[in-house]
Order: sequence, then structure tokens, then C-alpha cells
Amino acid sequence: IFRNKLAFFAAAKVSSSFPAPDLPEIAFAGRSNVGKSSLLNALTRQWGVVRTSDKPGLTQTINFFNLGTKVCLVDLPGYGFAYAKEEVKDAWEELVKEYVSTRVGLKRVCLLIDTKWGMKPRDHELINLMERSQTKYQIVLTKTDTVFPMDVARRAMQIEESLKANKSIVEPVMMVSSKSGAGIRSLRTVLAKIARF
Ligand code: GDP
Repeated sequence: IFRNKLAFFAAAKVSSSFPAPDLPEIAFAGRSNVGKSSLLNALTRQWGVVRTSDKPGLTQTINFFNLGTKVCLVDLPGYGFAYAKEEVKDAWEELVKEYVSTRVGLKRVCLLIDTKWGMKPRDHELINLMERSQTKYQIVLTKTDTVFPMDVARRAMQIEESLKANKSIVEPVMMVSSKSGAGIRSLRTVLAKIARF
């Protein structure tokens, strides 16, 4: 599925401009700077369509990308961006929350967590929301190359343990590095299964 051509499809600043949910959607969420653009690039190997940015928080819209004709990848704006004005931050968060809790056709949210920094209150907020709305999600630890392998495993286990009572989490915690390529193929395999339904 990830060999299909990635094509920008739509951008939405408000929920009324979400495109019609014609394809199953896989969304990517996380704090700004978590490595989301890099991961989308590594997964699809189509650099340039989803640009990496050194200016965190620049993505203020929900961006929809069709991957061939089977699935839509959705880039949610990163939250927790330190420099944005409060009201701007609130607007992005509301948009993300609305998308995640009400979107028809949303099959999976990949919640990205920076391995080094772990889960933060905003991540827990999103998890609680997805639990309430019964949105299926999985945790993906990013930038695993930045910490010792043993610490990566330990962090993954801690997260699994802390979320084990949760009902909408659907996969074991996955670990990826867009830089080294570790874990990218496994994540592709897991996500490809969603597109097949
Ligand atoms: P986004 O804001 O979540 O889209 O994050 P980006 O993909 O733009 O990445 C934020 C920063 O982290 C950039 O400086 C990237 O080069 C860096 N980064 C992203 N993925 C990795 C990774 O797997 N390993 C390392 N060491 N750095 C990464």
C-alpha cells in the first residue's frame, strides 16, 4: 500500500471544510517536533509531498493525503507548540479533538511520542478523548536512535503498562526511527492491514 502515490488532497482549518470521508483514514498525531513529518516521509518514501519543517507548529491545518485510491493519511497539527499564542493553540487543539472524536471513516490514530521525552499531559488528554469516543489508536515511539536501546524498550514497557486498562488501544507500542529506518517496515505492515478492510 505504501508504494502507492502520495497526493495532497485537502487542508482544513475548520471541521466544516473536512473533505467527504470517502476513504478509510489513518491519522498521525503528537506534540509538535515529535518527528511526524519525518515519519510520514519515511513511511511513504515520497519526500517533498509532506515537507519536514524545522519550524515546529507551522502546520495549522489538518492535511489529508491520498495514498493511491485505498487510504487517506491525515496529518494532524502538532500540539503543545510553545511559541504560539494561547488562542491559536486552543483553536488547533479543538480542531484535532473534533476530528479525532467525530470523524467517520477514521480507522486508526497513530499517536507519536518522542522516546526521549515520553508522554505529556496533552498526550494523555488525547488518549482520554479517544477512549471516550472509542477511536482506535496505537502508540508509536519516535526518534529511538536518540536513546540507548535498553531505554527504548523500557519506555515502551512503561507506556504499555500505564495504558493496559485502556480499551481503544489496538497494537503494542511500536518503536521507530525515521533517521535510522528502524521499525519503519513493521509500522508499514501494521498500517497496510487497515487499508485492506
Ligand atoms: P514534526 O514537527 O512532528 O513534523 O517533526 P519533524 O519531522 O519536523 O522533526 C522534528 C525534528 O526532529 C527535526 O529536526 C528532525 O530532523 C528531527 N527528527 C525527526 N525524526 C527523527 C529521528 O528519527 N531521529 C532523530 N535523531 N531526529 C529526528
